[in-house]
Amino acid sequence: MIKRERGIIFVVSAPSGTGKTTLCKMLLSDLEGIVFSVSYTTRPPRKGEVNGRDYFFVSEEEFRELIKKGELVEYALVYGNFYGTSKSFIEEKISNGLDVLLDIDVQGAKRILEYYTDAVGIFIFPPSFDELRRRLEKRGTDSPEAVETRLMIAKKEMKMADMYHYWIVNDHLERAYVNFKSIFIAERSRSGRLTVEGL
Ligand code: 5GP
Repeated sequence: MIKRERGIIFVVSAPSGTGKTTLCKMLLSDLEGIVFSVSYTTRPPRKGEVNGRDYFFVSEEEFRELIKKGELVEYALVYGNFYGTSKSFIEEKISNGLDVLLDIDVQGAKRILEYYTDAVGIFIFPPSFDELRRRLEKRGTDSPEAVETRLMIAKKEMKMADMYHYWIVNDHLERAYVNFKSIFIAERSRSGRLTVEGL
């Protein structure tokens, strides 16, 4: 009786080390009707990453070609590599009624929220700066200088958190996940996104 014609675009951003990837993966394996937006990137694949599932891995030349063709709804330089959101990917999914989850940085999120005015923005915060530093150090992938750079970038990103509709604090994974998932469920129930058939 109640129908939703178009899928919803969910844009999720967070400083690195906040647990965004974990929350997104939990959601994608838990909820039906939502897919991960596969971006283009010029960075080389990491171990275990699959072309077409994690990213579309392309050369800088191919990336420039995509920009020229208007295939990227937004793109940004993140830590020295180009990343861009595929317009055709998103539009194909939402026009088929599937929701799309975008895991992109704040610059890209700004552009998406401006372009798709009914998209939903979610920003994930760490519990504190001290905790974020601890998590980054524990990961062991960055030098002490790189950790400081990431913390500085984290502060800059948090200054842009106002443009997101929802804020989540990842203090405790299970608790944060309940809050995170609730956003998707609530947004799917908004009357403005639904129509009643047969009236
Ligand atoms: P990673 O290389 O670790 O997969 O991603 C690095 C950063 O790039 C993350 O903050 C991620 O959210 C961001 N990112 C991934 N895809 C896109 C995209 O299509 N556009 C933008 N602007 N950022 C992206």
